[in-house]
Amino acid sequence: MKRVSHKGGRVIIIGASLAGSIAAVELAQAGALVTLIDKENFPRRKPCGEGLSARGQAELDAAGCSLRDLPCSYRPLEGYRIFHGSRSLDIPDRAGLVGVPRKELDAALLSRVARFSTVDVILGTKASVLEVRPGRCRVRAGDHEFVGDALIVADGATSPTLRSLGQTAPVPRNARLGTSSVWRSVSGELMSKVHTVLVPGGEIYLTPLTNGLVNVSALGRLSLIQPFAQERALRVRMDALSEMIGVSLEPVSPPLSCGSIHATYRCSHINGAFVVGDACETFDPCAGFGMAHALITGRLAAQCVVTEIDPSRAVHTYAVERERRIRDVRGFARITSATMTSGVGRLSLPFLVSSGLAARVSESIHAADRGDVIRSFVSLIGGRRSRSLPEVLEN
Ligand SMILES: Cc1cc2nc3c(=O)[nH]c(=O)nc-3n(C[C@H](O)[C@H](O)[C@H](O)COP(=O)(O)OP(=O)(O)OC[C@H]3O[C@@H](n4cnc5c(N)ncnc54)[C@H](O)[C@@H]3O)c2cc1C
Repeated sequence: MKRVSHKGGRVIIIGASLAGSIAAVELAQAGALVTLIDKENFPRRKPCGEGLSARGQAELDAAGCSLRDLPCSYRPLEGYRIFHGSRSLDIPDRAGLVGVPRKELDAALLSRVARFSTVDVILGTKASVLEVRPGRCRVRAGDHEFVGDALIVADGATSPTLRSLGQTAPVPRNARLGTSSVWRSVSGELMSKVHTVLVPGGEIYLTPLTNGLVNVSALGRLSLIQPFAQERALRVRMDALSEMIGVSLEPVSPPLSCGSIHATYRCSHINGAFVVGDACETFDPCAGFGMAHALITGRLAAQCVVTEIDPSRAVHTYAVERERRIRDVRGFARITSATMTSGVGRLSLPFLVSSGLAARVSESIHAADRGDVIRSFVSLIGGRRSRSLPEVLEN
């Protein structure tokens, strides 16, 4: 095995998706040496609803990677139209939601990373941790061993790295599953809104992208997700959906499944390593906040690495600051998930919830740099972290 070591600050990042890549950009801009490793070759597809909130866009802007400057397409969206039976509810999103293909976005961000001569990007190679403690890590990728002063774990919701370090999260018995695919409208054009259709066992989301493409993702019980794997059953469901939205769709890419999508907090640091994005915490994707969380935490971890000299203090600062910044996101995700997935919540949606109130709550949480009373209220009522998982590993 070849040993690769560097003097000065080298940060090793496992996972080159949104959380890992934005951390790499932030670190490189601060002058750190970075090794960024991903098991996939890019561009690659990734199961996702592809709705990026204004808060996520603000993180890209702050890192100097604004959507308008990246080589990827995106479509501004006006908000959400929720269908339940014969009724529908419109919730405007004035904060600035966009539909963006992950295949393009992730590759575009990575191409920005690759511009820095101080970043080594290693793709198509699985990474595994050999040793990690505050201020030092050793990671194996293929035939190479890399030595670093800090480790950022950005390997997604299934996080093989956390599992190898003994941190696993339990999967609830009634876990919700997810799948996504890309379709093209062949007649009619979908309005610039995320169309959310509440169906028995879950929800189907249609996110308009550019060039008549539409992301179709489904979240829910196995009974809803299974037909997405069977061509005929999927056709029947999509024909019914097409009729409902008045747009005829044909498939462009087959559905990608991702397994359980339940909300889970794992840990924000482990043995001195920073844990970011989905590896750290996942929210039920019905709230549309996973990408924003990945970008927020990736940047924040990078900032803590470069500003805190003491490695133990750095992870502690990250944990505290992350918790402060995402409490409202967690609260909003819980409220959204309770409304979308429970019978009572669903009933209240088109009948009791005023579109204006829903829009104000959504806008308050999705807008960047907002500290209003709604945000504080949502953080307070739903933002507390579940204590069911061990935090011992963080101490
Ligand atoms: C069905 C579905 C719909 C969703 N819809 C939305 C939405 O509309 N809006 C939204 O904001 N969010 C949505 N999300 C959530 C969003 O996709 C995730 O929150 C986001 O991708 C997390 O980014 P990440 O960088 O943390 O992890 P990921 O994007 O999961 O990336 C992890 C990376 O780590 C790499 N990796 C894993 N193991 C290794 C290893 N051993 N070595 C090297 N590399 C490794 C993987 O190849 C991958 O590239 C959705 C998710 C699902 C499943």
